[in-house]
Amino acid sequence: MEKSIKKFRNMIKEKRMIDSMLAILQWDLETQTPKGGYKLISEMIGELSLKSYNLTTSKEVLDTIKKLKESLNKIDPIIKKEIDFLEEEIEKLKVIPPEEYKMYSELTAKAQGVWEVAREDNNFEKFAPVLEEIFSFNKKFIEYRKLDSDIYSTILNDYEKGMNVSKLDLFFDGLKKEIVPFLKEINEKKRNFSDKLSFTSSKLEQEKFSKEILRYIGFDLERGILSESAHPFTLTVNKDDVRLTTRYFEELPFSSVFSTIHEGGHGIYEQGVAEELKETMLADGSSMGIHESQSRFYENIIGRSREFWYGLLDRSKDKYKSLSTLSLDEVYKGINEVTPSLIRVEADELTYSLHIMVRYEIEKGILSGEYEIKDLPKIWNEKMYEYLGVVPENDKEGVLQDVHWSCGLIGYFPSYALGNVYSIQILNAMKKQMNVEGVLERGELNKIKIWLNENIHKHGKSKSPNEIMLSVTGEELNPDYYITYLKEKYTNIYD
Ligand SMILES: [Zn+2]
Repeated sequence: MEKSIKKFRNMIKEKRMIDSMLAILQWDLETQTPKGGYKLISEMIGELSLKSYNLTTSKEVLDTIKKLKESLNKIDPIIKKEIDFLEEEIEKLKVIPPEEYKMYSELTAKAQGVWEVAREDNNFEKFAPVLEEIFSFNKKFIEYRKLDSDIYSTILNDYEKGMNVSKLDLFFDGLKKEIVPFLKEINEKKRNFSDKLSFTSSKLEQEKFSKEILRYIGFDLERGILSESAHPFTLTVNKDDVRLTTRYFEELPFSSVFSTIHEGGHGIYEQGVAEELKETMLADGSSMGIHESQSRFYENIIGRSREFWYGLLDRSKDKYKSLSTLSLDEVYKGINEVTPSLIRVEADELTYSLHIMVRYEIEKGILSGEYEIKDLPKIWNEKMYEYLGVVPENDKEGVLQDVHWSCGLIGYFPSYALGNVYSIQILNAMKKQMNVEGVLERGELNKIKIWLNENIHKHGKSKSPNEIMLSVTGEELNPDYYITYLKEKYTNIYD
């Protein structure tokens, strides 16, 4: 038994080591690699992914799991959970032929470069063939598992345990019924709140401010880094090396502020996983939806609140020239202006989930065979018009704007919408125990971080999304609170 545990720990260590190497290669690919280097780095990623695949599905691993399961009641609960996750992973992997797995890993690494060029050239046709391949690999991999549920529901459940098409259909139907008409009403009251925020700020100034905000909300820059990339993201090598990126537009300084706070929320989660889980498979977020609940919590509930800026403005005004002329009210209204826009990452809180709805319906349509890849630009534009009332003039502002599909992240988008819903439920629970507004006004962001850490972060992956929601809020996912929150907030701002 002792021997099997030791063997198991060593195998997990090796597996985590490979994952960390993959993370560093991925980081390099997205922040540093020149175009000429894509090919080799993609091959390296393919090679290492195959190594990880071989290790996970090896006879040695299977035998060790079998041994440990013979005396399951004597095993530490952490290892028990790890075995559950490992077995799930093996179930998914073992049906895929290794060569196909490697081909797919190389394809997705290469596809990011293809997507970038297509986006730069504003030409969807250049991206369409690889996108077609990525979707068909995903479809094939799910079919290999021979499950009863439909393909998209299986994918959704892989990201978020318990999620499926019928639950999400219900959620998005709610948005169509409540938020789409509410948005139309608000649009009639067009205000130009954000004019005050459109000043120029140098990249250097924005970078300094972004780091100041990260420190202010509690991201540990000794165990993390902030860099720059076309599409902001968070990448974890381990909990003591958490890497964030943001992006700077000189004409739109508040864009980097919100990207930074968003990624900071992911980063604080990763840094906060309990030390005892560090070397285990549980050193990760509970699910992508819970992960997004943390980033959206920091970005919207904290970052777009009046009280946060009340606390922050005073501290930063004399240090950042661009901020010195702005009043609290100008900032608050400016950052909360509702403008149906084309770009998801720049979207306000009210319209954000409508952007997700467009992507959700497209993924569902392709996987069910209703839509064809070649028609995506047209379908995209029609849906944007229907839900947001705006139409992209080109693919760069439309179907080519997100990196996700090129990385193989099909089914990821709904995590953002789920994150929004979770975050409001989490806020309501927090408010029962803490004067959140007062804490923000006094700049005591640490209290919020400690609360989130105690209730969510430290548990890592050892609790499922449902278990977290039940223990924190006493309820499962419930979109009603989210819809009520949005209507209240924006009725106030827009009278
Ligand atoms: Zn995120």
